[in-house]
Amino acid sequence: MSRFLSERLQSLKAYVPGEQPKVRNLIKLNTNESPFPPTPGVKEAVAEAAESLQLYNDLSAAKLTRLLAETYGLKENQITVSNGSDEILAFAFQAFGGHGLAFPDITYGFYPVWADLYGLDRKIIPLDEDFNIRIQDYAGNDRCVVIANPNAPTGKALPLSALREIAEKNPDQIVIVDEAYVDFGGESALALIPEFDNVLVVRTFSKSRQLAGGRLGFAMGNAALIDDLNRVRFSFHPYNVNSLTQAAGAAALEQPEYFESCRQAIMDTRAWTVEQLKQLGFTVLDSSANFVFAAAPGMSGAEYQKKLREKNILIRYFDLPRIRDFTRITIGTKAQMEALIQATKEIVS
Ligand code: PMP
Repeated sequence: MSRFLSERLQSLKAYVPGEQPKVRNLIKLNTNESPFPPTPGVKEAVAEAAESLQLYNDLSAAKLTRLLAETYGLKENQITVSNGSDEILAFAFQAFGGHGLAFPDITYGFYPVWADLYGLDRKIIPLDEDFNIRIQDYAGNDRCVVIANPNAPTGKALPLSALREIAEKNPDQIVIVDEAYVDFGGESALALIPEFDNVLVVRTFSKSRQLAGGRLGFAMGNAALIDDLNRVRFSFHPYNVNSLTQAAGAAALEQPEYFESCRQAIMDTRAWTVEQLKQLGFTVLDSSANFVFAAAPGMSGAEYQKKLREKNILIRYFDLPRIRDFTRITIGTKAQMEALIQATKEIVS
């Protein structure tokens, strides 16, 4: 730390992303990326967009936004795009977190970091002992509610009826639903948008659309909410989604069959992996995401992670209260998961 850093930021603890190793031959199951390549068509679209890189990108991301509106059955003014969903979440925290935020004790680790960065008060609401969100704990809140659904790192999902109840019981607060993982079996809060002016749905192309490195996220909600987010965006960085990424995102949306087949493959491989882990004595939470949250028998999460690392397999461990027995394992290809199970058999035997 230099002596120049603003006092307000001196105690800020930055978010620590999962490791992105440069070593080859590692099986990388630690950051919930897709194991599949981008949609065929992305490469060409990006190459074509690269021919105009001397120009600034389209501020309105017109083609991408039109395709998103068609895909999700909304109007274009109900959508805004961002440099990964992290960025739009950060904008939403700034825009709507003025009276503070409420989110679970076990959830996406970036939420408390943004709260600290923007100096926002937060109320941490514990999950129940089975790691479920208790919806009654969110009734009548006096602050912005943030729910990852499915939740991370648990993978557990709330049904639409629960999200509706949270929105209904907080009519004067924004409910941000972070749907980074919803395409792997969750129920979207999208259906609530026509009815509720306080529901903001945040999505990403990083998990189910094979574009983590492209950095593309978006938010959907009532046009006034989207306008608020654009006010933050235009006060920070209007050109936030570069032209290569806009082209990649549009190309991905133009081939929905590829998206469908990839997400189906992940869900099938997840079912197989859960079954295998359970046979080996693991405790595995019900997952609606592209990862599973699992506790190895007779071993801490840290130990299991370390032993897999020695076998060139990366998974994620969180050194946090209540979840030290667990590790988060991204669902990769079937071959990667077979390697994980084989390595695990050697570790637990
Ligand atoms: N929300 C959740 C719950 C996540 O796990 C992640 C991935 N780290 C994100 C949002 C952000 O993803 P991205 O910025 O790549 O869109």
